[in-house]
Amino acid sequence: TDAVHIVGGGLAGSEAAWQLAEAGVPVVLHEMRGVEPTPAHHTADFAELVCSNSFRSDEAEKSAIGLLHEEMRRLGSLILASADTHRVPAGAALAVDRDGFSAAVTAAISGHPLVEVRRELVDGLPPEDWGRTIIATGPLTAAPLAEAIRALTGEDSLAFFDAIAPIVHREAIDMDTAWFQSRWNKGDGKDYINCPMTKDEYNAFIDALLAGDKTEFKQWEQDTPYFEGCMPVEVMASRGRETLRYGPMKPVGLDDPRTGRWPYAVVQLRQDNALGTLWNIVGFQTKLKHAEQVRIFRTIPGLQDAQFARLGGLHRNTFINSPRLLDDRLRLKELPRISFAGQITGCEGYVESAAVGLIAGRFAAAEVLGRSIEPPPVTTALGALLHHITGGADDTTFQPMNVNFGLFPPLDGRTRKNERKVAMVARARTALGEWVEEAQAVEPAA
Ligand code: FAD
Repeated sequence: TDAVHIVGGGLAGSEAAWQLAEAGVPVVLHEMRGVEPTPAHHTADFAELVCSNSFRSDEAEKSAIGLLHEEMRRLGSLILASADTHRVPAGAALAVDRDGFSAAVTAAISGHPLVEVRRELVDGLPPEDWGRTIIATGPLTAAPLAEAIRALTGEDSLAFFDAIAPIVHREAIDMDTAWFQSRWNKGDGKDYINCPMTKDEYNAFIDALLAGDKTEFKQWEQDTPYFEGCMPVEVMASRGRETLRYGPMKPVGLDDPRTGRWPYAVVQLRQDNALGTLWNIVGFQTKLKHAEQVRIFRTIPGLQDAQFARLGGLHRNTFINSPRLLDDRLRLKELPRISFAGQITGCEGYVESAAVGLIAGRFAAAEVLGRSIEPPPVTTALGALLHHITGGADDTTFQPMNVNFGLFPPLDGRTRKNERKVAMVARARTALGEWVEEAQAVEPAA
């Protein structure tokens, strides 16, 4: 069998390498650390954790990230196995001893007879004679490769920064206060949800944005460009009290059904996924601290009970427009010998990156072994995340996403609110089992 090449030995690249090698496919893993550093990594170990040592909640019954852990364990994930071995006490979260964890991943990869490690910076598109290649170079992809990808995919299909507006679950928006309408009734009228503000509410909101606690940029992020269209909402507010009212909070053309008039100001939400379960707050990318975002954004009329699927942010982050560029197996539509995995695909987080690496490895293995494999069902955590980044998300507003229950298709029939998560988890467990059986993938012994 020809070797599959992987660029990047981070969370995603290590997991992809493991999945391929365990399936009997030789791997050449290209990793620059050891010869070339990144601004955030400190070692040359594979799967180094650049910041927190937490893989977040491990409770499958209660959280989509916990369910994703469980699914990855069932699929023989090296990242989860190494995390379990080097677990440190952290309540309901899965946290690890970072050095022990990365050392375990490094030993498993370097010691695998089917993996060849090359310490080098890949400074352009993978050459054709490499054949099947997975690019998993992460949020800090080295510049020459990022530029080469950008030249191939087009200027607006690779971003160097994210600008994430908070995303809320549709079901917790109070539609007695908010209403559906597009400005001047353009479109089909259901494109936006509008939350009205009075003058007093608007002024109090601006004060809260200005006073709110913010996250600082890291030193190597200092040159973050505040280009038009992605300026943090609090920076806009600081440019003048009326700036937001003439920007994203403009009320013109929006008639509050309760008064029949335009309100003083409006907060608009736009549908974020094809399922219609998630809505982003338009123009509200922010560097406010997470707790501050929850506190301040819940003062918006209609969002008082908001549940956040993800909070806003602005970071240096290299990622491609996956919904536009990739097929449902993570391959470039225009150049299918190349696929992508990890944070560069627009997923967000250690576990999500490793999960996308896992499935990218399985897809590539099936391909070179001539076996058929379907993407995992969208009712599983892995399938829901994969579906979102390869087509479920709107490609005109695509921003990085972590796994959450809003990515799952709603349940059939009526289920009481407090039973929904449990029902979704049960549905996911059955679906993953069926998929594994179909793929004739052998589940590792417990
Ligand atoms: P990485 O783990 O970064 O792996 C990519 C690898 O590719 C690196 O080893 C790099 O050296 C290598 N590489 C890059 N370019 C080349 C090239 N041209 N040739 C050869 N090798 C190359 N997520 C969380 O869940 N929790 C956190 O606390 C967290 N903190 C973060 C802090 C920072 C500063 C950043 C940037 C991200 C953070 N993330 C966090 C987000 C994300 O989960 C991690 O970045 C995660 O490591 C992504 O996994 P990955 O495999 O896609 O990329």
